Amino acid sequence: EQPKPSDVKKRAIGDTLEDAEEVADHYNKRREVGIHGREESPIIALRKFNNWIKSVLVGTFARGRYDEPQGPRYRTRGGRILDLGCGKGGDLKKWDKVSPSALVGADIASVSIEQAITRHKENRQRYSGDFFAFDCFSTPLTEVIPRELLEPMFDNVTLQFCMHYAWESVEKARMMLDNVARYLRRGGVFIGTIPDSRVLRDRLTAGGNPDDRSFGNRYYKVVFDQVDTWPAFGNRYTFFLEDAVENVPEYVVDFDVFEDLAMEVGLRCIYRRNFAEMYEEGSRHEEHGKLLERMKVVDRYGSLALDEEMWQAATLYLGFAF
Ligand code: SAM
Repeated sequence: EQPKPSDVKKRAIGDTLEDAEEVADHYNKRREVGIHGREESPIIALRKFNNWIKSVLVGTFARGRYDEPQGPRYRTRGGRILDLGCGKGGDLKKWDKVSPSALVGADIASVSIEQAITRHKENRQRYSGDFFAFDCFSTPLTEVIPRELLEPMFDNVTLQFCMHYAWESVEKARMMLDNVARYLRRGGVFIGTIPDSRVLRDRLTAGGNPDDRSFGNRYYKVVFDQVDTWPAFGNRYTFFLEDAVENVPEYVVDFDVFEDLAMEVGLRCIYRRNFAEMYEEGSRHEEHGKLLERMKVVDRYGSLALDEEMWQAATLYLGFAF
């Protein structure tokens, strides 16, 4: 049984329980429902939309080993991918279209890592897959992943719907960025999706409930620990998403601070869009527009499968590339 938004526990400010453990525990307990179970999910349209977003990021930014001009396009193949916070390996197939040579995945939830290994085998992926369970935001990659898997350097690093867990402290954010950048080749890309701090702030101030520092609707709920200050790190809230996330602690990622820290490790921002803008642009793009229909995000008449409240949950997020 899923807890309801009303069950959100009030957290003591400065509560020092191990948030990373709580996050790992939450994702470890989520059962694998398989493709048929997933179709039954009340937020299936949102899941499909998020998958489309990630496919667009991969399709737009993925780098290969032998990127070479071919007519108006680049042929991208042979790329090596590092997927931090890879979860159950739900993105493995998305990389197929850029014909990579290898993917190294890591996640703090060991149960998810076992599922990713199984999925990689069952999909008969044509690229190698190596998976590791550890806290990617507190531990250097080199302590866990063998050197021969870290070199040659990666062409792509991806962190989907997970980088915000690193924003608990500046030390964690730096460790995470160091893990991203250290084995990313010059000219490689780092892509990801995180909650959009501008949207969090706007909704908190405009439509929020000041009494319990929260906002949301029937699909999602955000409850801030405190609203008196807006710190660059450790700005914690609990997040609930129907049939997906049960009141897990997350942190606001201030994008300007993110850009500054990323710059320190040699990463330059080339793309930042809220999901609403990505949809807007994608629906006008020939290939991404067709993909919207193929992935059943829109029907054949072009109407969006997400209802208004689900759209509010979707547009909490942004996509980026460095
Ligand atoms: N990237 C996957 C996707 O897009 O389907 C999974 C996203 S899921 C919302 C967030 C993932 O981040 C979970 O699998 C969770 O275990 C992982 N995660 C959270 N904190 C982490 C950490 N410190 N190190 C590694 N993974 C972490």
